[in-house]
Amino acid sequence: MKVAAYDAGAGPRIGIVLGDRIIDAGLDGPLAGHLPDWSQHEARLAALDPATGLPLSGVRLLAPVPRPGKIFAIGLNYADHIAESGMGTPERQVWFTKAQTSVNGPFDPVQAPKVSQTLDYEAELVAVIGRRGKHIAREEAAAHIFGYCVGNDVTERAWQHATPQWSLGKSFDTHAPFGPWITTGDEVDPHALDIRCTVNGEERQSSNTRHLVFDVFDQVAHLSQAMTLEPGDLIFTGTPGGVGAAMSPRRFLRPGDVVRVEIQGLGAIENRIVAEG
Ligand code: ZN
Repeated sequence: MKVAAYDAGAGPRIGIVLGDRIIDAGLDGPLAGHLPDWSQHEARLAALDPATGLPLSGVRLLAPVPRPGKIFAIGLNYADHIAESGMGTPERQVWFTKAQTSVNGPFDPVQAPKVSQTLDYEAELVAVIGRRGKHIAREEAAAHIFGYCVGNDVTERAWQHATPQWSLGKSFDTHAPFGPWITTGDEVDPHALDIRCTVNGEERQSSNTRHLVFDVFDQVAHLSQAMTLEPGDLIFTGTPGGVGAAMSPRRFLRPGDVVRVEIQGLGAIENRIVAEG
């Protein structure tokens, strides 16, 4: 099942995507509040009639979770990206956070910050937590994940590397676009998905999630040793090689550029870069 947030002109709604149509799920308020008892809605949602919905092309898709309680992202998690970064393969998972205010819609503009000129993209598979848990065993991780979507861990490189802690350079407003919807975990093998990023149509990143160093279930197990994972929390699971900062010469994003990230079976997000107003 594909679960989206959208606005057809009357405010945010939760919808189910079927083909090229979206059907109102009849659930009020943000998605995260419905995840603990999602199983109670499943049979009704699976029976929705596409004819009662709207064409996808006629609605604005929104970030599927508008205010995630936590956004964690792992660094250095594909071998080719580790090599291009000049850093060693980490023995322990390297985590940073992205601010809640960096959340952005799947097709909304991404701001090029006033204060810096080193804006970069990172195509990433994003896992959405569905069930609360602490000390989640690797074998139980899948049961705690509601589903998966496409994300761009947009990064301000100069700010990322100005200090040992990366979070500020990862947390500018609009720098966490994700979507276009959540595909529920029962339909996804998260470790066998082609992932690709283009800028203005030119391919920059192309890999497969089978190349993750720490896989998604290891990530859930590790994070949950420290903190309770809650419905709606997001995990950005790492980016493959090909970021602009590693090119020679380096190629950063400029206003007018269009960045597209697509993942096999999960759809695509596309964001235009605009100067910060
Ligand atoms: Zn990243």
